[in-house]
Amino acid sequence: MKLPHTLSELEESGYQPKTVKSELRANLIEKMEKGEQLFPGIIGYDDTVIPEIENAILSCHDIILLGERGQAKTRIMRSLTALLDESLPVISGCEINDDPLHPLCKHCHEQIKKNKGKTRIEWVPCEMRFSEKLATPDVTIADLIGDIDPIKIAEGRYLSDELAIHYGLIPRTNRGIFSINELPDLHEKIQVGLFNLLEERDVQIRGYKIALPLDIFIIATANPEDYTSRGRIITPLKDRFGAQIRTHYPKTLEEEITIVRQERTPLAVDGFTLNLPHFMEEIIAEISQMARRRSEINHYSGISVRMSIHNMENLISNAFRRAIRLKEKEIVPRITDLIHLSSSMKGKIEWDFIEDGAEEEKIKIIIRDAISKIFRQRLSNDSFGNFLKEFSNGNGFKVSEMTSSSHYLKNSEAYPSLKERVAKLTGDTSLAHRASATEFILEGLAIGGKIKKEIEETSTTYGSKQ
Ligand SMILES: [Zn+2]
Repeated sequence: MKLPHTLSELEESGYQPKTVKSELRANLIEKMEKGEQLFPGIIGYDDTVIPEIENAILSCHDIILLGERGQAKTRIMRSLTALLDESLPVISGCEINDDPLHPLCKHCHEQIKKNKGKTRIEWVPCEMRFSEKLATPDVTIADLIGDIDPIKIAEGRYLSDELAIHYGLIPRTNRGIFSINELPDLHEKIQVGLFNLLEERDVQIRGYKIALPLDIFIIATANPEDYTSRGRIITPLKDRFGAQIRTHYPKTLEEEITIVRQERTPLAVDGFTLNLPHFMEEIIAEISQMARRRSEINHYSGISVRMSIHNMENLISNAFRRAIRLKEKEIVPRITDLIHLSSSMKGKIEWDFIEDGAEEEKIKIIIRDAISKIFRQRLSNDSFGNFLKEFSNGNGFKVSEMTSSSHYLKNSEAYPSLKERVAKLTGDTSLAHRASATEFILEGLAIGGKIKKEIEETSTTYGSKQ
């Protein structure tokens, strides 16, 4: 279908203007009726956050999302463009996306007066009707709302002349979605300006009051503590948000694993295959979930799901490094690789009261506890009695991140019960996968105090206690 390109064509097409909120609502209803997935790729919010967002849109409310870092807030905000119409007619050359039938700005009024039905119409695609701003204390009224344009003044415009305004981000997002990250970081003066624009529908620029009845859907984010602490948000602005929705971290290990699988940088290198044991995925997810429960970790900022994603990427890279060095074709992460997570964890955990140099040690404890928990979950029914007997007659088991998989196999020849247990756990015959499972079992038994563990500079030796 050919889209109308003049004002009279648009009028003849039967075009009916609607507000951005009623447009979002109409498209939401249509998608719900068709049973479409509204937020593809957003995991773990089906029964909590998503119904609240649907209600807010059905109610035509602006939304504030409260949550710690790494809870998909930005992703939710961006995905709302999928609820806009494919494209929207505006008067050509308008800086604020004016509705051709009800233009606000002087430019458009002048265009229509001059060209009447021949006034040009442009169509704005939905992705262009979204803008995003990270609130910081130095964001100004000029950035968000607008300022007097000195060039236009020099050209002879009067200060009070609306055509002398250089519009900021919000007017330029007219008839669209304006999203603002970390709302409480906006200076109070800017919050007042924002409120006036939304509620009184006017702007004050350098003392001049100009009516600007914009049509905007606002979605903002904030850390819950900043949002509730007195004075960080001016009350009238708070009142303006019809929906305050709390986001959260994945509630289950499987949800955390699903997000990691979806978000991590894929490893695709010719000649290598990645084989990721499920127990290693569980350990990575458990490390983050455990850290979120620790009392010595500051809960204000939280532990982002990004930590799980970066940990997994780091873990795989270390296994990849081994495969390259040892000329193995299969990449399988193992327990000794976990030591390298320190670099992807350090920047993402904020500790309460920590002594200098204690961080590495604390990270090691979290990793150890996560391994222990997954080991108990998976193998708690196993006493490993036969293996422990065999182990007491053997020479121990040396592991390291740079030991070849075939070496592990050779070492395990002395312990048939271990070999059998590993085969049961991995369910496959890959050498590298079996090496990884061997280490998982040995480490789990050592943490549980059933065997000894001695850490040398570049290797670890497990030995019998008897
Ligand atoms: Zn205009």
